[in-house]
Amino acid sequence: MKPIAILGAGLAGLTAAADLKKRGLPVIVFEAGPAIGGMAASFKDAEGFSYDFGAHFVSNRLAKAMGTEDICRTVKHYGEAVLVGGRMRSHPFGLMREPRFALGALKAKLSAKRAPAASAADWFRGAYGEALAEAVAIPLAEAWSGAPAAELAPSVGEKFGHGALKSLYLTAAQVLTGRAVCNGYTREMPESAGVYHVYPEGGLSKLLAPMATSVASNVRLGSPVEKVVVEGGRVVAVRSKGETTPVSAVVSTAPVNVLPKLVEGTAALDELASFRYRPMIFVNLKFEGRGLLPDTMLWVPEGGTPFFRLTEAPISMPWLAPEGKTLITADIGCQVGDEWWTMPDADLAEACLAGMNRIFGDLGPRYLGAGGVIRTSVAYPVHLEKYEAARRRFALATGVEGLWSVGRNGEFAHILMEDVYWRTKRRMEEVAAFVGGGARGAEAADHGRIAA
Ligand SMILES: Cc1cc2nc3c(=O)[nH]c(=O)nc-3n(C[C@H](O)[C@H](O)[C@H](O)COP(=O)(O)OP(=O)(O)OC[C@H]3O[C@@H](n4cnc5c(N)ncnc54)[C@H](O)[C@@H]3O)c2cc1C
Repeated sequence: MKPIAILGAGLAGLTAAADLKKRGLPVIVFEAGPAIGGMAASFKDAEGFSYDFGAHFVSNRLAKAMGTEDICRTVKHYGEAVLVGGRMRSHPFGLMREPRFALGALKAKLSAKRAPAASAADWFRGAYGEALAEAVAIPLAEAWSGAPAAELAPSVGEKFGHGALKSLYLTAAQVLTGRAVCNGYTREMPESAGVYHVYPEGGLSKLLAPMATSVASNVRLGSPVEKVVVEGGRVVAVRSKGETTPVSAVVSTAPVNVLPKLVEGTAALDELASFRYRPMIFVNLKFEGRGLLPDTMLWVPEGGTPFFRLTEAPISMPWLAPEGKTLITADIGCQVGDEWWTMPDADLAEACLAGMNRIFGDLGPRYLGAGGVIRTSVAYPVHLEKYEAARRRFALATGVEGLWSVGRNGEFAHILMEDVYWRTKRRMEEVAAFVGGGARGAEAADHGRIAA
């Protein structure tokens, strides 16, 4: 049998490869970069500060499924706060101590059934009430996406967690069990008191180690796929570094707006070219002391700072910084090539420090210097209403027989690692059925044709 080509050796690509290999199917994983892991990357500096590609929180259930349960430490606490009206409020319940937010939310709950939301802005107003939507949800969505909330699809709101009762139960479970119970980290599997955050020894990237070992002989590093060849509506080959490899199917984890450029021989994917991702910069700053933020994550919707979010991961994972010291990550939304994107790392750190000084007073005496800076052009998929219909079609199938697109950027979905894992495994059932032929294979092929 011709091999199944997998584009990318991040979590999704490795999950796909390990799953298909276990079924006895031949796979080749083409990874454009020099290492496996994609966004699941970890770094440590000479002074003992560790950080990942943005702050990452994963669950014990995912670690167990990936065979890394034994090397994981339990995270005891996780919490979020919001800076609103110059005051720190815990999220979500502290916000309700502001009478205008509580009344607005109540009014929204009691109001007669409205027409379906036409935009994310509408969705926020309907779900949270006018005051909370205007002061917190809308400015955050805009800072995060770089687009007006009125142009974002209502599906942006859907990514936000559970209702108040479920959140209350999960928060109470955290207090009672002394473990950071996950809240809003997966939609594919139920969240409960028994599903809590963990962190692998040596960094988040270690989560992928057993899977990477199981497919090591199938991975080609430094091998970007430059072309996916389609004939008669079906994938037949891939080209990498000038070499063409005949394939029985392709599983891509590349950003979806790149796919139309890779795929040759069909126009079925052309509408994906307009989908956009939000580029982002993650700036790490080192400080003396611990607990500078009110909680692990602080949302800053009020503007006036380069960042819209700060994360002090050592509040949850004390081992990420040397004792008595801490690391804060500032998230800056930007565009490729703009003043933030092109700013030298040292100036980015200075700008973030100045922003933090505005919130916390002078942190200068505690500041120990910049940690690493990470830039990515594809941090978050932006769901604009104008391509929402195309996005929903694409969520069902790529429209090309034998081509699957999985993973966070591959699905163009707001999904975290656990959902990437479960969803990719589910999709591999379709791939296996397709290459295996038979009734289920025909069904899988039909699936592609119907979407086309
Ligand atoms: C800032 C930030 C914070 C996050 N925090 C969390 C968190 O707290 N908890 C959580 O669970 N998740 C979190 N996530 C999400 C998580 O990182 C992702 O869901 C997951 O890592 C995605 O894996 P992936 O394999 O889909 O994509 P990626 O990791 O991006 O892997 C894709 C791979 O494909 C390769 N590739 C691309 N094009 C080609 C090509 N043409 N040929 C060959 N290879 C190619 C790339 O080099 C890359 O290695 C966060 C993400 C970000 C950006």
